[in-house]
Amino acid sequence: MKVSVVKADNYNIETVDKAVNDAVNLIGGWQNFIKKGDKVLIKPNMLTNVTPEKAVTTHPEVVRAVIKAVKNMGALPAVGDSPGISNLKSTAKRTGILTICEEENVPFVYFKQSKAYNYMEGRFIKQFELVDCLSDFDKIISVAKMKTHVFMGVTGAVKNLFGCIVGTDKARFHLRMQKHIDFAHVMVDLYQTIKPTLNIIDGITAMEGQGPMSGDVVDAKIIIASSDGFAADLIMADKMGLDAEAMPIAAAGIEEKRIIRLKDIKVVGDGKDEQFHFAKPHTYKSMQDTYVPKFILKLGQNQLTSKPVINKNCVACGRCSHHCPPKAITIIDKKVNIDYQKCIRCYCCQELCPHQAVDLKDGLILSLLKYIGIYK
Ligand code: SF4
Ligand code: SF4
Repeated sequence: MKVSVVKADNYNIETVDKAVNDAVNLIGGWQNFIKKGDKVLIKPNMLTNVTPEKAVTTHPEVVRAVIKAVKNMGALPAVGDSPGISNLKSTAKRTGILTICEEENVPFVYFKQSKAYNYMEGRFIKQFELVDCLSDFDKIISVAKMKTHVFMGVTGAVKNLFGCIVGTDKARFHLRMQKHIDFAHVMVDLYQTIKPTLNIIDGITAMEGQGPMSGDVVDAKIIIASSDGFAADLIMADKMGLDAEAMPIAAAGIEEKRIIRLKDIKVVGDGKDEQFHFAKPHTYKSMQDTYVPKFILKLGQNQLTSKPVINKNCVACGRCSHHCPPKAITIIDKKVNIDYQKCIRCYCCQELCPHQAVDLKDGLILSLLKYIGIYK
């Protein structure tokens, strides 16, 4: 299994074009993935309606490079996503992706309706409700963003596919799979159900710290490509300086013996020796998933986990309250209140807040364990 890592200094059209094509050529070339006449869905990360410099969403020039390459193969590209929050059209516009589609004259598909897709080999989920048009395409290309993630450690090619679950349906998964590792097992099933033909990760600018929305921008200056999304994500996390196989989705896939191990991946390209030290998300390791039996966790969740806390940036817009899966957030007289007994620590509020008004604060026991060095 090969993963290519190619250097790219900036988002100039020519630079990105070259980097994306070099990355794909190093793993066999476009002809390995796309045939003439194929209908190809390009799935970027369009988490929310922010501009590309924030490094929250896949940069439009990376999407353009993939569109052009697919067209060169004589195939028929379309681009689509479902941000889950924000107006779909305004998100497509603000991220710059709609403009690219218009300039390249390819359709942008708004993910609106779902239908059932079976995956009988699924460990946790045997049937997903996914965007209905998915089955209209012959091939899918995941074009993700290189970011840390407060709930999943990292988000790359695999987690990007969560956008194929339409809009607010995503919240159901957080309610059903409250432990990090359970949610991660679902991501493994989701990836196997969708099975992208090709996975490309935009790491020219990336995000560290409290990703996927409230972290800091890092110029990693790389593009990653692989036929295997798990392999691409393992290399991405490794390059970030994280414990790649301990990230929940990788750990779930390894436990199920369904994904490749880091040591078995051959990394190629001029960026193969790049190494970064990304700031870890606050919740990098979770007491929920490791040492603590479930019954103690239930009793001591407040003290054993990081909890969301509203800071002074809050403008009481209501987005967090609207999207909180267990409805733990209420707003009274423009003041946001969180019911910590209801809160399942999914961190959707932190992920979705447009004003970076949600901090994560360690519970008392977790702080103590970190202080005395038992838990780092
Ligand atoms: S915390 Fe953020 S999302 Fe929630 S109401 Fe305040 S500004 Fe809006
Ligand atoms: S308050 Fe935030 S972390 Fe807690 S359940 Fe709601 S969205 Fe998730």
